[in-house]
Amino acid sequence: MLKKPGRFVVHHSHYEREKIMSYLTAIMAFLKKSEARTKCPVCNKYSSQSVSKRSHGQTMLCPYCKSLFIKEK
Ligand SMILES: [Zn+2]
Repeated sequence: MLKKPGRFVVHHSHYEREKIMSYLTAIMAFLKKSEARTKCPVCNKYSSQSVSKRSHGQTMLCPYCKSLFIKEK
């Protein structure tokens, strides 16, 4: 009798959850890399803005004074 390919049963043990959490942390770290500290020209405070917005000359919103600004190259 041929043995059926064993189905892999995932036990969501504490260890598995830890593994998933560290995976998510790695993703978050990766996403954070696409953000850069940008200085607001109005209030001179730094906030993290997406790098793609910055490089494409799109308007960014300052979370402190709610001003819209464009980073000049
Ligand atoms: Zn500001």
